[in-house]
Formats: sequence, structure tokens, C-alpha cells
Amino acid sequence: MSDTVAICSRREFLGQATCALHLGLMAAATPWWARRAWSEQERFPVVASEPWGRLEHVAEGVWALVSTPLEDRTTLCNGGIVAGRAGVVLVESFATGNGARWMAEQARRLTGRAPTHVVLTHYHSDHTGGLAAVGEGNVDTLATNVTRDLTGDRNQGAPLELLADAVVLDARRPTEIDLGDRSIIVVPRRGHTDSDVSIEIPEARTVFCGDLVWNGMFPNYVDATPSRLSREVRVMRAANATTYVPGHGPLADAAALDDYIGLLDHVEDAARRALQRGMGADEAGAEYRLPAGLGSWTLFSPGYFARALGAWMSELRG
Ligand SMILES: [Zn+2]
Repeated sequence: MSDTVAICSRREFLGQATCALHLGLMAAATPWWARRAWSEQERFPVVASEPWGRLEHVAEGVWALVSTPLEDRTTLCNGGIVAGRAGVVLVESFATGNGARWMAEQARRLTGRAPTHVVLTHYHSDHTGGLAAVGEGNVDTLATNVTRDLTGDRNQGAPLELLADAVVLDARRPTEIDLGDRSIIVVPRRGHTDSDVSIEIPEARTVFCGDLVWNGMFPNYVDATPSRLSREVRVMRAANATTYVPGHGPLADAAALDDYIGLLDHVEDAARRALQRGMGADEAGAEYRLPAGLGSWTLFSPGYFARALGAWMSELRG
């Protein structure tokens, strides 16, 4: 593997129910040019910029946070704000209370109102850790029952009472959130975890993808069902949106999503070849190289290759 990856031990990334817990190590070892390339990929006007991320104005009433976790882990994951006349939706509650509070403040500053809804795309702690800071008062927390339960069961210090009051999203059919002059659609999906949702704003041709999509960073397969992940991403691509907000990394357009689908297929092919050759996941991961032409992608951990290949190999073995 190239010098774009940091080195940390297996013990540091195995067994963590999160997308990205050891980012401090990664940041220290990420070359300056990779960090700069990532942070320079702005697609829309930036309305707020902090060490932990930048808020881009994607469309009327739609803002996307691109976290820059190699610098600062206050928010860690991406997310956003969607405002209508009758409500303001926060997408994700971020890694920390400070991150979640900062996003709620941005919602007030940009829309004149506090968030009315918080939608959790999945249970991982870098997306839900700040829930207690924004989920109280007149805010509805929306999550599937699986996401609600796993957030409470697996994430230390999760706000259990607040989760018990969450509005449970239908896990089979899309849910429309009526914001008065606009609606957003929450679509149940699966693949990064057992329960993911995407948040779709058709008239803005924008999809918040949660961790089903990563851009500029190799995805974490820690809880993945790889074939399902690949299918769900293709379904989102078929929507032909112009902006896909990934769970991590800069905002993606359709071409960037095609690159990501190519990467997912590349990983699948590598896993199939490794099985044919009788290799284990660690050996296959050590040998794996990103597709030529993908550009300067990075990883939270070099162990993510072995994890991705191992997830595919165990699914293919059945
Ligand atoms: Zn995740």
C-alpha cells in the first residue's frame, strides 16, 4: 500500500462498533497533500468553516456538513440541515455533544429556527454520539427500531430515555417528513449495517447517503452485508441525483458515485480471487491495492482492506 495510510495495530480497529475511532493516529500519519486534496474539494458555497468541517450550501434550504476528521473529530461524520417552512431537519447527531450543538446552532443561524427533527442514518457512534445534546426538548428523534436499539445497546453512554421516545421509522417503506412547503423522504436501506436509511430531497436532487457511500476514504465493512451494500448504492445511483452526501469524505456527484461503485466491485473481485487462491482475509488485505485511477483516496486504517475482503469472503462462503 502507498504512503497514504497510517499504521495502527489490529487491536485498535477490531471490535469497534464505529466507523472511525482511531482517527487521531490516522491524522498524524496522513501526508499533508492527501489532507489538502480532501479539504479542497468544495462543491458549493461554504457558509461555515471550522477545524472539524465545513458547511456547504447545496440548494435552497439544504446544507451539507463535510467533516474533516483528519484535523478534528468534533463532528467526525458528515450530515446536514434541511429546512422547510414548518420544520428543520438535522441529518445525524454527530460524534460528540459539541459537534451536535454546533450543527444545531448553525441551523438556528441559517434558518432562524432550532431543529425540529433529528434523523439517524444508522447506529454507529460517530453518527449518534451527540444525540443527547440535540435530542431533548421539542425535537423528534427519528430512527428505525434496529438503529434505535443498537444505539442504546452498543454505544456507551447513549441516552436511553431519549431513544425510548424516538419516532420509529418504517423499516420497509419510505417515510415522508412534511416540512410545510417541502417534503423529504427517508428511505430504509441496508448494507453498511443491518439498518441504514438515506434521506432524499428529490427537488434538490440531493441524497444524504449515511455510510452506504464513502468518498475519498475507503469504506468500513465492520457491520456490512457486502452484496446488499453494492445493490443499495446502485439503487441510489439510479435516482440520478446531482449531489450525494457521503457518510465520510467530500460531497459526491454522479461520476464520483460511479467511481465508488467501481471500488465496491473491485473489492468483490479481489475477494473472489482470494477465495480461489485459498487465501485468508489478512493475507488478501495485505496484498490489496486500490484500483488504478481512483485518485488520492485514504483510509481510517490499513486494516479496512482485510475487513472488507473478509466480509465478502465470509458472505461468498455462505
Ligand atoms: Zn457507519
